Amino acid sequence: MNIPTLETLDVRGKRVLLRCDLNVPLKEGNITDDGRIRASLPTIKYLLESGASIVIVAHLGRPKGERKPELSLAPIAQRLGELLGREIIFSSEIVGASVTEKVEAMTPGAVLLLENIRYEAAETSKVESEREDLARKLASYADFFVSDGFGAVHRKHASVYDVAKLLPHAAGFLVAAEVEVLKKLTQEPVRPYGVVLGGAKVSDKIGVISNLLEKVNVLAIGGGMVFTFLAAQGKEIGTSLVETDSIPTVLELLKRANEIGVEILLPTDIVVAPAFAADATPTLVSADQIPHDQMGLDIGPVSAAAFAGEIEKCKTVFWNGPMGVFEFPNFAAGTRAVAAALTHVDGISVVGGGDSAAAVRKLGFADSEFGYISTGGGASLEYLEGKELPGLLVLAI
Ligand code: AMP
Repeated sequence: MNIPTLETLDVRGKRVLLRCDLNVPLKEGNITDDGRIRASLPTIKYLLESGASIVIVAHLGRPKGERKPELSLAPIAQRLGELLGREIIFSSEIVGASVTEKVEAMTPGAVLLLENIRYEAAETSKVESEREDLARKLASYADFFVSDGFGAVHRKHASVYDVAKLLPHAAGFLVAAEVEVLKKLTQEPVRPYGVVLGGAKVSDKIGVISNLLEKVNVLAIGGGMVFTFLAAQGKEIGTSLVETDSIPTVLELLKRANEIGVEILLPTDIVVAPAFAADATPTLVSADQIPHDQMGLDIGPVSAAAFAGEIEKCKTVFWNGPMGVFEFPNFAAGTRAVAAALTHVDGISVVGGGDSAAAVRKLGFADSEFGYISTGGGASLEYLEGKELPGLLVLAI
Protein backbone atom coordinates (compact mmCIF):
# COMPACT_ATOMS: atom_id res chain seq x y z
CA MET A 1 0.00 0.00 0.00
CA ASN A 2 1.46 3.31 -1.08
CA ILE A 3 0.13 6.18 1.03
CA PRO A 4 1.16 9.74 0.14
CA THR A 5 3.14 11.49 2.85
CA LEU A 6 2.50 14.94 4.20
CA GLU A 7 5.47 16.43 2.38
CA THR A 8 3.82 15.69 -0.96
CA LEU A 9 1.19 18.39 -0.35
CA ASP A 10 2.01 22.01 -1.09
CA VAL A 11 -0.03 23.56 1.69
CA ARG A 12 1.40 27.09 1.80
CA GLY A 13 -1.45 29.58 2.02
CA LYS A 14 -3.98 26.74 1.81
CA ARG A 15 -6.61 25.37 4.17
CA VAL A 16 -6.16 21.82 5.41
CA LEU A 17 -8.90 19.64 6.85
CA LEU A 18 -7.08 17.54 9.44
CA ARG A 19 -8.63 14.45 11.02
CA CYS A 20 -7.09 13.94 14.44
CA ASP A 21 -7.73 11.43 17.18
CA LEU A 22 -8.32 13.58 20.26
CA ASN A 23 -10.39 10.92 22.00
CA VAL A 24 -8.78 11.28 25.41
CA PRO A 25 -10.02 9.88 28.72
CA LEU A 26 -11.93 12.44 30.82
CA LYS A 27 -12.89 12.30 34.46
CA GLU A 28 -15.39 14.92 35.65
CA GLY A 29 -14.49 17.12 32.68
CA ASN A 30 -10.72 16.86 33.26
CA ILE A 31 -8.37 15.16 30.82
CA THR A 32 -6.64 12.29 32.64
CA ASP A 33 -4.22 11.36 29.84
CA ASP A 34 -3.43 13.81 27.04
CA GLY A 35 -1.26 11.35 25.10
CA ARG A 36 -3.41 11.48 21.97
CA ILE A 37 -3.41 15.29 21.91
CA ARG A 38 0.39 15.31 22.22
CA ALA A 39 0.67 12.67 19.49
CA SER A 40 -1.25 14.99 17.15
CA LEU A 41 1.12 17.92 17.62
CA PRO A 42 3.89 17.09 15.11
CA THR A 43 1.50 17.19 12.13
CA ILE A 44 -0.28 20.31 13.37
CA LYS A 45 3.03 22.10 13.94
CA TYR A 46 4.36 21.04 10.54
CA LEU A 47 1.26 22.34 8.78
CA LEU A 48 1.41 25.64 10.61
CA GLU A 49 5.12 26.04 9.94
CA SER A 50 4.40 25.31 6.28
CA GLY A 51 2.02 28.27 6.10
CA ALA A 52 -1.33 26.46 6.17
CA SER A 53 -4.45 27.13 8.19
CA ILE A 54 -6.10 24.09 9.74
CA VAL A 55 -9.64 22.89 10.34
CA ILE A 56 -9.42 20.01 12.80
CA VAL A 57 -12.10 17.32 12.90
CA ALA A 58 -12.16 14.86 15.78
CA HIS A 59 -14.48 12.80 17.94
CA LEU A 60 -14.87 12.07 21.61
CA GLY A 61 -16.58 8.94 22.89
CA ARG A 62 -19.78 7.65 21.35
CA PRO A 63 -22.50 10.31 21.49
CA LYS A 64 -24.39 8.42 18.75
CA GLY A 65 -25.57 11.49 16.87
CA GLU A 66 -26.68 13.41 19.96
CA ARG A 67 -25.23 16.57 21.48
CA LYS A 68 -24.06 15.14 24.78
CA PRO A 69 -22.43 18.05 26.68
CA GLU A 70 -20.09 15.72 28.60
CA LEU A 71 -18.61 14.67 25.25
CA SER A 72 -17.88 18.19 24.02
CA LEU A 73 -14.44 18.85 22.59
CA ALA A 74 -14.29 22.24 24.37
CA PRO A 75 -11.87 21.04 27.12
CA ILE A 76 -9.73 19.44 24.43
CA ALA A 77 -9.59 22.73 22.50
CA GLN A 78 -8.25 24.38 25.62
CA ARG A 79 -5.57 21.73 26.23
CA LEU A 80 -4.55 21.76 22.58
CA GLY A 81 -4.17 25.55 22.75
CA GLU A 82 -1.95 25.23 25.84
CA LEU A 83 0.25 22.60 24.22
CA LEU A 84 0.55 24.51 20.95
CA GLY A 85 0.95 27.87 22.64
CA ARG A 86 -1.58 29.52 20.37
CA GLU A 87 -5.24 30.32 20.19
CA ILE A 88 -7.59 27.60 19.01
CA ILE A 89 -10.82 28.84 17.50
CA PHE A 90 -13.54 26.47 18.67
CA SER A 91 -16.70 25.99 16.65
CA SER A 92 -19.63 24.50 18.52
CA GLU A 93 -21.30 24.00 15.15
CA ILE A 94 -19.94 21.30 12.85
CA VAL A 95 -21.64 22.28 9.63
CA GLY A 96 -23.57 25.33 8.55
CA ALA A 97 -23.20 29.00 7.76
CA SER A 98 -21.45 29.95 11.02
CA VAL A 99 -18.69 27.42 10.33
CA THR A 100 -18.22 28.58 6.75
CA GLU A 101 -17.91 32.14 8.03
CA LYS A 102 -15.23 31.15 10.56
CA VAL A 103 -13.38 29.08 7.97
CA GLU A 104 -13.37 31.88 5.42
CA ALA A 105 -11.98 34.32 7.99
CA MET A 106 -8.96 32.08 8.69
CA THR A 107 -5.51 33.29 7.72
CA PRO A 108 -2.33 31.14 7.57
CA GLY A 109 -1.46 29.92 11.07
CA ALA A 110 -5.08 29.80 12.25
CA VAL A 111 -6.41 26.62 13.87
CA LEU A 112 -10.12 25.91 14.05
CA LEU A 113 -11.40 22.90 15.98
CA LEU A 114 -14.88 21.68 15.13
CA GLU A 115 -17.10 20.24 17.87
CA ASN A 116 -17.34 16.44 18.29
CA ILE A 117 -18.00 15.12 14.78
CA ARG A 118 -19.97 12.22 16.23
CA TYR A 119 -22.68 14.66 17.31
CA GLU A 120 -23.59 14.31 13.62
CA ALA A 121 -25.36 10.97 13.12
CA ALA A 122 -24.14 10.93 9.49
CA GLU A 123 -20.51 10.56 10.63
CA THR A 124 -20.96 6.92 11.60
CA SER A 125 -23.96 6.14 9.38
CA LYS A 126 -24.05 2.84 7.52
CA VAL A 127 -25.84 4.67 4.69
CA GLU A 128 -23.15 5.77 2.28
CA SER A 129 -25.09 8.74 0.87
CA GLU A 130 -25.60 10.19 4.38
CA ARG A 131 -21.89 9.95 5.12
CA GLU A 132 -21.00 11.38 1.71
CA ASP A 133 -23.28 14.34 2.29
CA LEU A 134 -21.46 15.19 5.55
CA ALA A 135 -18.09 14.53 3.92
CA ARG A 136 -18.94 17.01 1.13
CA LYS A 137 -19.68 19.71 3.69
CA LEU A 138 -16.40 19.02 5.51
CA ALA A 139 -14.48 18.98 2.23
CA SER A 140 -15.90 22.39 1.34
CA TYR A 141 -13.85 23.89 4.20
CA ALA A 142 -10.47 23.01 2.75
CA ASP A 143 -8.11 22.46 -0.17
CA PHE A 144 -6.49 19.31 1.25
CA PHE A 145 -7.33 16.48 3.62
CA VAL A 146 -4.75 15.10 6.03
CA SER A 147 -5.60 11.90 7.86
CA ASP A 148 -3.88 11.69 11.22
CA GLY A 149 -6.50 10.17 13.50
CA PHE A 150 -4.95 6.73 13.68
CA GLY A 151 -7.33 5.57 16.42
CA ALA A 152 -10.23 5.87 13.93
CA VAL A 153 -8.71 4.55 10.68
CA HIS A 154 -10.45 1.20 11.11
CA ARG A 155 -13.78 3.00 10.84
CA LYS A 156 -15.64 3.70 7.61
CA HIS A 157 -16.73 7.10 8.86
CA ALA A 158 -17.42 10.32 6.93
CA SER A 159 -14.46 12.26 8.37
CA VAL A 160 -12.09 9.30 8.10
CA TYR A 161 -13.04 7.57 4.89
CA ASP A 162 -15.51 9.42 2.64
CA VAL A 163 -13.81 12.81 2.85
CA ALA A 164 -10.51 11.38 1.59
CA LYS A 165 -12.21 10.62 -1.73
CA LEU A 166 -13.12 14.27 -2.20
CA LEU A 167 -9.84 16.11 -1.62
CA PRO A 168 -6.16 15.68 -2.49
CA HIS A 169 -4.87 13.95 0.63
CA ALA A 170 -2.00 12.52 2.60
CA ALA A 171 -1.34 10.65 5.82
CA GLY A 172 -0.16 12.77 8.74
CA PHE A 173 3.01 11.94 10.66
CA LEU A 174 1.17 9.98 13.34
CA VAL A 175 -0.64 7.69 10.90
CA ALA A 176 2.59 7.19 8.95
CA ALA A 177 4.53 6.33 12.14
CA GLU A 178 1.86 3.92 13.39
CA VAL A 179 1.76 2.08 10.08
CA GLU A 180 5.55 1.86 10.01
CA VAL A 181 5.58 0.19 13.45
CA LEU A 182 2.73 -2.17 12.58
CA LYS A 183 4.62 -3.27 9.49
CA LYS A 184 7.55 -4.24 11.71
CA LEU A 185 5.20 -6.41 13.73
CA THR A 186 3.68 -8.17 10.77
CA GLN A 187 6.34 -8.33 8.05
CA GLU A 188 9.28 -10.47 9.13
CA PRO A 189 9.53 -9.34 12.76
CA VAL A 190 12.95 -9.68 14.38
CA ARG A 191 12.89 -12.85 16.51
CA PRO A 192 12.19 -13.95 19.14
CA TYR A 193 8.78 -12.30 18.79
CA GLY A 194 6.49 -12.13 21.81
CA VAL A 195 2.92 -10.90 22.11
CA VAL A 196 1.27 -10.17 25.46
CA LEU A 197 -2.48 -9.75 25.58
CA GLY A 198 -4.76 -8.78 28.43
CA GLY A 199 -7.74 -6.55 29.07
CA ALA A 200 -11.32 -7.37 29.72
CA LYS A 201 -12.73 -8.89 26.54
CA VAL A 202 -11.42 -12.08 25.00
CA SER A 203 -13.72 -11.75 21.98
CA ASP A 204 -11.87 -8.53 20.99
CA LYS A 205 -8.57 -10.38 20.86
CA ILE A 206 -9.44 -13.71 19.26
CA GLY A 207 -8.82 -12.40 15.74
CA VAL A 208 -5.38 -11.16 16.71
CA ILE A 209 -4.43 -14.38 18.46
CA SER A 210 -5.61 -16.38 15.51
CA ASN A 211 -3.71 -14.27 12.96
CA LEU A 212 -0.50 -13.98 14.98
CA LEU A 213 -0.31 -17.54 16.28
CA GLU A 214 1.83 -18.74 13.39
CA LYS A 215 4.02 -15.61 13.50
CA VAL A 216 4.98 -15.40 17.18
CA ASN A 217 7.41 -17.39 19.31
CA VAL A 218 5.55 -16.82 22.55
CA LEU A 219 2.08 -15.55 23.40
CA ALA A 220 1.38 -14.58 27.02
CA ILE A 221 -2.18 -14.01 28.19
CA GLY A 222 -3.39 -12.24 31.32
CA GLY A 223 -6.14 -9.79 32.33
CA GLY A 224 -9.82 -10.56 32.55
CA MET A 225 -9.67 -12.47 29.26
CA VAL A 226 -7.47 -15.18 30.74
CA PHE A 227 -10.33 -16.69 32.73
CA THR A 228 -12.04 -17.80 29.54
CA PHE A 229 -8.82 -19.72 28.78
CA LEU A 230 -8.71 -21.21 32.29
CA ALA A 231 -12.41 -22.10 32.04
CA ALA A 232 -11.74 -23.74 28.66
CA GLN A 233 -9.12 -25.88 30.40
CA GLY A 234 -11.82 -26.99 32.83
CA LYS A 235 -10.57 -24.95 35.79
CA GLU A 236 -12.73 -23.40 38.49
CA ILE A 237 -12.69 -19.64 37.89
CA GLY A 238 -15.04 -18.52 40.66
CA THR A 239 -16.81 -15.27 39.85
CA SER A 240 -14.09 -14.06 37.45
CA LEU A 241 -14.93 -12.46 34.10
CA VAL A 242 -15.74 -15.10 31.49
CA GLU A 243 -17.13 -15.21 27.95
CA THR A 244 -18.61 -18.68 27.71
CA ASP A 245 -19.49 -18.19 24.03
CA SER A 246 -15.79 -17.91 23.23
CA ILE A 247 -14.77 -21.15 24.96
CA PRO A 248 -14.97 -23.34 21.81
CA THR A 249 -12.82 -20.86 19.84
CA VAL A 250 -10.33 -20.64 22.69
CA LEU A 251 -10.08 -24.44 22.81
CA GLU A 252 -9.46 -24.45 19.08
CA LEU A 253 -6.68 -21.85 19.48
CA LEU A 254 -5.02 -23.83 22.29
CA LYS A 255 -5.12 -26.95 20.11
CA ARG A 256 -3.65 -25.12 17.11
CA ALA A 257 -0.88 -23.60 19.24
CA ASN A 258 -0.01 -27.06 20.53
CA GLU A 259 0.11 -28.50 17.01
CA ILE A 260 2.43 -25.82 15.67
CA GLY A 261 4.60 -25.70 18.79
CA VAL A 262 3.86 -22.12 19.83
CA GLU A 263 3.82 -21.60 23.56
CA ILE A 264 0.72 -19.93 25.00
CA LEU A 265 1.82 -18.76 28.40
CA LEU A 266 -1.03 -18.63 30.93
CA PRO A 267 -0.71 -17.47 34.55
CA THR A 268 -0.11 -20.10 37.22
CA ASP A 269 -0.99 -17.86 40.15
CA ILE A 270 -3.79 -15.35 40.46
CA VAL A 271 -4.65 -12.51 42.83
CA VAL A 272 -8.29 -12.98 43.77
CA ALA A 273 -10.75 -10.88 45.78
CA PRO A 274 -14.34 -11.28 46.93
CA ALA A 275 -15.55 -8.25 44.92
CA PHE A 276 -14.64 -5.91 42.08
CA ALA A 277 -13.57 -3.04 44.33
CA ALA A 278 -10.42 -1.06 45.10
CA ASP A 279 -10.61 -1.97 48.79
CA ALA A 280 -11.46 -5.67 48.29
CA THR A 281 -9.02 -7.92 50.20
CA PRO A 282 -6.52 -9.49 47.80
CA THR A 283 -5.47 -13.14 48.24
CA LEU A 284 -2.91 -15.01 46.18
CA VAL A 285 -4.00 -18.45 44.97
CA SER A 286 -2.85 -21.03 42.45
CA ALA A 287 -4.60 -20.74 39.07
CA ASP A 288 -5.90 -24.27 39.78
CA GLN A 289 -7.50 -23.23 43.04
CA ILE A 290 -9.61 -20.14 42.53
CA PRO A 291 -12.29 -20.22 45.24
CA HIS A 292 -15.83 -20.43 43.82
CA ASP A 293 -16.87 -17.17 45.51
CA GLN A 294 -13.85 -15.05 44.51
CA MET A 295 -12.81 -13.33 41.28
CA GLY A 296 -9.39 -13.06 39.70
CA LEU A 297 -8.30 -9.42 39.45
CA ASP A 298 -4.60 -9.73 38.61
CA ILE A 299 -1.97 -12.27 37.63
CA GLY A 300 0.20 -13.35 40.57
CA PRO A 301 3.91 -12.60 41.13
CA VAL A 302 5.16 -15.98 39.87
CA SER A 303 3.27 -15.51 36.60
CA ALA A 304 4.35 -11.86 36.33
CA ALA A 305 8.00 -12.92 36.70
CA ALA A 306 7.55 -15.69 34.13
CA PHE A 307 5.90 -13.28 31.65
CA ALA A 308 8.63 -10.69 32.28
CA GLY A 309 11.36 -13.30 31.73
CA GLU A 310 9.90 -14.30 28.36
CA ILE A 311 9.35 -10.68 27.28
CA GLU A 312 12.91 -9.68 28.10
CA LYS A 313 14.27 -12.48 25.89
CA CYS A 314 12.40 -11.11 22.87
CA LYS A 315 13.66 -8.75 20.19
CA THR A 316 10.14 -7.75 19.15
CA VAL A 317 7.27 -7.40 21.63
CA PHE A 318 3.70 -6.22 21.21
CA TRP A 319 1.55 -5.71 24.27
CA ASN A 320 -2.13 -4.86 24.40
CA GLY A 321 -4.36 -4.93 27.46
CA PRO A 322 -3.63 -4.71 31.18
CA MET A 323 -2.82 -7.89 33.14
CA GLY A 324 -5.26 -6.97 35.88
CA VAL A 325 -7.46 -4.20 37.17
CA PHE A 326 -4.56 -1.73 37.21
CA GLU A 327 -6.92 1.11 38.15
CA PHE A 328 -6.98 -0.41 41.69
CA PRO A 329 -3.46 -0.23 43.22
CA ASN A 330 -3.86 -3.64 44.92
CA PHE A 331 -4.33 -5.27 41.51
CA ALA A 332 -1.79 -3.33 39.42
CA ALA A 333 1.39 -5.34 40.10
CA GLY A 334 1.03 -7.72 37.13
CA THR A 335 0.54 -4.85 34.69
CA ARG A 336 3.46 -2.96 36.25
CA ALA A 337 5.75 -6.02 35.90
CA VAL A 338 4.86 -6.50 32.23
CA ALA A 339 5.33 -2.78 31.51
CA ALA A 340 8.72 -2.83 33.26
CA ALA A 341 9.78 -5.88 31.24
CA LEU A 342 8.89 -4.07 28.01
CA THR A 343 11.19 -1.21 29.00
CA HIS A 344 14.06 -3.74 29.19
CA VAL A 345 13.55 -5.20 25.72
CA ASP A 346 16.66 -5.06 23.59
CA GLY A 347 14.77 -4.49 20.35
CA ILE A 348 11.36 -3.07 19.52
CA SER A 349 8.70 -2.87 22.25
CA VAL A 350 5.25 -1.69 21.29
CA VAL A 351 2.49 -0.76 23.70
CA GLY A 352 -0.73 -1.00 21.74
CA GLY A 353 -3.80 0.99 22.40
CA GLY A 354 -5.64 3.47 24.53
CA ASP A 355 -6.04 1.45 27.74
CA SER A 356 -2.54 0.03 27.80
CA ALA A 357 -1.04 3.41 26.99
CA ALA A 358 -3.05 5.06 29.76
CA ALA A 359 -2.03 2.21 32.11
CA VAL A 360 1.70 2.67 31.61
CA ARG A 361 1.43 6.42 32.13
CA LYS A 362 -0.76 6.00 35.22
CA LEU A 363 1.79 3.56 36.63
CA GLY A 364 4.48 6.20 36.25
CA PHE A 365 6.39 5.01 33.17
CA ALA A 366 7.61 7.59 30.66
CA ASP A 367 6.69 7.25 26.98
CA SER A 368 10.39 7.30 26.11
CA GLU A 369 10.98 4.02 28.00
CA PHE A 370 9.13 2.12 25.29
CA GLY A 371 9.97 1.63 21.65
CA TYR A 372 6.56 2.88 20.61
CA ILE A 373 3.23 3.63 22.24
CA SER A 374 0.40 3.27 19.79
CA THR A 375 -2.53 5.67 20.05
CA GLY A 376 -5.03 3.27 18.54
CA GLY A 377 -6.12 0.12 20.34
CA GLY A 378 -8.86 -1.06 18.01
CA ALA A 379 -7.04 0.14 14.89
CA SER A 380 -3.77 -1.60 15.74
CA LEU A 381 -5.56 -4.80 16.75
CA GLU A 382 -7.47 -4.86 13.46
CA TYR A 383 -4.25 -4.27 11.53
CA LEU A 384 -2.61 -7.14 13.40
CA GLU A 385 -5.67 -9.28 12.68
CA GLY A 386 -4.79 -8.83 9.03
CA LYS A 387 -7.93 -6.82 8.29
CA GLU A 388 -7.97 -4.01 5.76
CA LEU A 389 -8.51 -0.66 7.44
CA PRO A 390 -10.84 1.55 5.35
CA GLY A 391 -9.21 4.79 6.55
CA LEU A 392 -5.82 3.60 5.27
CA LEU A 393 -7.03 1.93 2.08
CA VAL A 394 -8.77 5.10 0.95
CA LEU A 395 -5.50 7.06 1.23
CA ALA A 396 -3.56 4.67 -0.95
CA ILE A 397 -2.68 5.67 -4.49
P1 AMP B 1 -9.75 -3.80 27.31
O1 AMP B 1 -10.48 -2.53 26.97
O2 AMP B 1 -10.42 -5.03 26.83
O3 AMP B 1 -8.28 -3.71 26.97
O4 AMP B 1 -9.83 -3.90 28.90
C1 AMP B 1 -9.20 -3.02 29.78
C2 AMP B 1 -9.82 -3.18 31.13
O5 AMP B 1 -9.68 -4.53 31.55
C3 AMP B 1 -9.18 -2.35 32.22
O6 AMP B 1 -10.04 -1.33 32.59
C4 AMP B 1 -8.95 -3.35 33.36
O7 AMP B 1 -9.39 -2.88 34.61
C5 AMP B 1 -9.80 -4.53 32.94
N1 AMP B 1 -9.31 -5.80 33.52
C6 AMP B 1 -8.08 -6.29 33.48
N2 AMP B 1 -8.01 -7.44 34.17
C7 AMP B 1 -9.24 -7.69 34.65
C8 AMP B 1 -9.79 -8.73 35.46
N3 AMP B 1 -9.06 -9.73 35.89
N4 AMP B 1 -11.11 -8.66 35.76
C9 AMP B 1 -11.86 -7.62 35.31
N5 AMP B 1 -11.40 -6.61 34.55
C10 AMP B 1 -10.09 -6.64 34.22
